[in-house]
Amino acid sequence: MKVQFLGTAAAEGIPAIWRECEVCRKAKQLGGKELRRRCSYLIDTDTIVDFGPDSFWQSIEFNIDQTILKRILFTHPHEDHMSPLEFYFRRSPYFSQVSHFINVLASAETLKTFIKFTGHEFKDLYINPIEFKPGKWHTDEDMEVLPIPANHAPGMGPMILAVRRNGKTLLIANDTGLLADSSWEMLKGVTFDTAVIESTCAFGVPDLQNGHLGVNTTVQFRDKLLEMGCITKDTPVYVNHFSHNGKANHDKLVEFFAPRNMTVAYDGLTIEL
Ligand SMILES: [Zn+2]
Ligand SMILES: [Zn+2]
Repeated sequence: MKVQFLGTAAAEGIPAIWRECEVCRKAKQLGGKELRRRCSYLIDTDTIVDFGPDSFWQSIEFNIDQTILKRILFTHPHEDHMSPLEFYFRRSPYFSQVSHFINVLASAETLKTFIKFTGHEFKDLYINPIEFKPGKWHTDEDMEVLPIPANHAPGMGPMILAVRRNGKTLLIANDTGLLADSSWEMLKGVTFDTAVIESTCAFGVPDLQNGHLGVNTTVQFRDKLLEMGCITKDTPVYVNHFSHNGKANHDKLVEFFAPRNMTVAYDGLTIEL
């Protein structure tokens, strides 16, 4: 399973559009790994996780062929992860020549918000909705997905996701604080070949436990996975989903996470499981 980070920022992107802070000023000046689009992932060539306001540009920058896309998984319906605009253009024949359906896998709340945002029925957008049942594995062709309730955006059906293909399993945990006991329970017995954990608030709120994580709680999240046997000390762990409010540029994040055996993700990074 090949995974590419298409975007590694939280809602505002980095440098944030109304940037007046030091992190954004430096990011603009340095470029490269400092430039972070809104969070999204490409899995192999047929699956995208989260489809936010940078999707159009990500598809050009990373040469993504949407005509062979089979599914989109959504973690939750915040606007940085689910942008309705691009989906209007799946209406055919008015805006596009679309004839192939894609699957959209998401929680009941996210699917409901999707309809509210776009103002269209799924069938008019050539979408098959598949509703997540929290704690249950879903099979879609050769991909299996386990959604587990995240500690983020109460009432909006946020999920962290275990994604399995060809015997390899990936954890995607962006947009979550430390999990509720009931969610840790659902992870029992699941082992990961790679884990991605957020650190949205990084040094801004290092001990943040709810909604998002800071540097210390990101490490706590990883340590809990270790303690539960979901990962080993050799499992690659990536840190993702950074806000400028985390008060750190790439190097400062690496300085903190590298000695703790965690890799700071950047846009375009591709990994193989
Ligand atoms: Zn987010
Ligand atoms: Zn969010």
